[in-house]
Amino acid sequence: MERIPYWNIGYGLLIDLLSLPALAVFGYGIYGHWKRIRQGKASVKLGLTLDALKLGPLHIRSFLTRGIVGTRIYRKLCTGIAHGLLFWGMVLLSAGTILVFANVLFRLPVFKGEFNHWFMGAALDAAGVAALAGVVYLLIRRLFPPERLTCFRANSGFIQVEIGIIAIVVTGFFIEGARIAQNGADPGSFVGNWLGSMLSVGRGGLELHRYLWWTHGLLALATIAYIPFSPLVHLVLAPANAGLDVPVPGPKMGVIDFESFEGDGDETPSLGASKLADFSRKNLLDASTCLKCGRCHEVCPAAQTGKKLSPKGVMVTLAEYLQHGRMDDESLLEAISTDAIYSCTTCAACMEACPVSVNQPNAILQMRQHLLMERSEMPEIMGQANRSLEARHHPFIGTGFGPNDWRKGIDVPFYEKGTTEYLLWIGCSVAYEERTQSIARAMVAILKHAGVSFGILEENRCTGDPAKQMGNEFLFTEIAGQNIEEFNDLGVTKVITMCPHCFNSFTRHYPLLGAKFDVVPHAVLLRGLIEAGKITLTNSGQAICYHDPCYLGRHNQVLSEPRSVVSSVGQLVEMPRHGCESFCCGAGGGNYWTEEEGTRINQTRAKEALDTGAKTIATACPFCMLMLTDGLKKFTEEQMVKDIAELVCSRMESGAQGVPQTLVST
Ligand code: SF4
Ligand code: SF4
Repeated sequence: MERIPYWNIGYGLLIDLLSLPALAVFGYGIYGHWKRIRQGKASVKLGLTLDALKLGPLHIRSFLTRGIVGTRIYRKLCTGIAHGLLFWGMVLLSAGTILVFANVLFRLPVFKGEFNHWFMGAALDAAGVAALAGVVYLLIRRLFPPERLTCFRANSGFIQVEIGIIAIVVTGFFIEGARIAQNGADPGSFVGNWLGSMLSVGRGGLELHRYLWWTHGLLALATIAYIPFSPLVHLVLAPANAGLDVPVPGPKMGVIDFESFEGDGDETPSLGASKLADFSRKNLLDASTCLKCGRCHEVCPAAQTGKKLSPKGVMVTLAEYLQHGRMDDESLLEAISTDAIYSCTTCAACMEACPVSVNQPNAILQMRQHLLMERSEMPEIMGQANRSLEARHHPFIGTGFGPNDWRKGIDVPFYEKGTTEYLLWIGCSVAYEERTQSIARAMVAILKHAGVSFGILEENRCTGDPAKQMGNEFLFTEIAGQNIEEFNDLGVTKVITMCPHCFNSFTRHYPLLGAKFDVVPHAVLLRGLIEAGKITLTNSGQAICYHDPCYLGRHNQVLSEPRSVVSSVGQLVEMPRHGCESFCCGAGGGNYWTEEEGTRINQTRAKEALDTGAKTIATACPFCMLMLTDGLKKFTEEQMVKDIAELVCSRMESGAQGVPQTLVST
């Protein structure tokens, strides 16, 4: 017999009418979130764009992949599969319910033929089983949670909604079984037919069916109404947060327009963020979307080595202040703590792990900006590095080297306007530490050998990036402005970097200050030279473990090029955490200049590299080199860390000219 909607249910249409107040409560709840979020600064500019992957401020690709499909959820396989079964199961079941409404209201023939058999029967029963399996797994995991779910705060609200979903799916199956017990088997409904064969017929069966039907319908409506007041609100907020997120990892700090502050009336705006009202709407959306899943806590190098910082803790604190309307409460910084704020290495591991696209370091860095620029509060050594940057254009306190010492004994050309193709950017990190100077020397040798037209600046200074990461936006703007002016005077259009922090700053921050030049990290250039046959290398066949610098790999997705270079000179081996899921060396965010407490991040990473059994640890960042070299001292006296430029230089077939082999040999 063809299925009849609302069979055995008097006044069944009431459920359709009751959906209206449920949807109204849902809308009211979402409006409540918007009301809270809109108290933040409107950093998002509305407007049309010609970019096919953008709709106004919305990034379509991240909206669809991270927001709707939830691609990051699957990085934890079991949880991901359970979440996928639940989500897509419920999507199908909701589609089935909508089709039933369409049948009632518009006589859509959904209960006929093959569609009834395969979709309304088999597919919906399979969806119910999948959703049930997923939600039961998730509930068990909530009841026996891993540490990441409970640290700082557990999101206990999930337990109620998971029990509610189980009740909805189970009552749905029993309604189907009770109906089939009375009316005979449905084609394709394998669960309903099985339950129907066990349920009683007659008056008791009819009453059971009616009772279950109302329970199921009212529970479903109550759940819809409850979504905005429960952790399920991530169904709405997570896609929005993913769509409004920057498509590439990293805090993406923007620049502060200091000139706009001048002559701006009586009140000078406060720099950085000391209270919720100072944050952008996106920051407040981040806090509202956070699920307290702790995935960020689990990958954070600071949290994992016992520092006060936990990105989950930061988001939980922001969310609680927001929930309680404490927009102007300046106790926020104390609640999070200065130590925590300065412990962030800006590695972006938290962002990469977050399933709902929260940008934790962006919020942390804004608080850091306030501490530094408004209160002059920062760890002592960072303060010294800042003062060194101001006075001497580099942050390497206590160095005995001058800006040109790295090129003593070798002939390095200067950049000539209109003649030289590439500016080889030296910056500070390969100039002021003895161990990293050989990176610059190796690059000079390689570029000469390959016949690349290049030159350096006569006067060497930092990009200003350490100042930006430490929160000193004012100093960064000043240094960057000087560099851009010099580049413009010289007509620089192509720049080679050896430090990923310089590369990141040149490509992400300098353009906001008017810079217009192309930048190539040395890993990419080296790979290109090898592929073009400009340099020929001998492969030692030795195992070389590659450490991804956060600002090259995770932040800028330069992953395959350095690996290709390493594979040209040896046999690449990977650490368990590599690529976009790599573990920081501990230097980022200005933490190279800090007195680290507790377990050292660089020692943790050095041990991981050592455990691969490789005799050489390759990297493509001077800071990573310094940190790993230092971290290894706890375990071995061997000098194992090499930059990829050093490796290439030592394996060039016709030999490197002008480079002391003691510094570059493998
Ligand atoms: S950016 Fe890195 S150090 Fe900072 S909170 Fe995130 S994971 Fe932790
Ligand atoms: S910020 Fe993201 S990863 Fe961290 S607890 Fe919240 S939802 Fe989880």
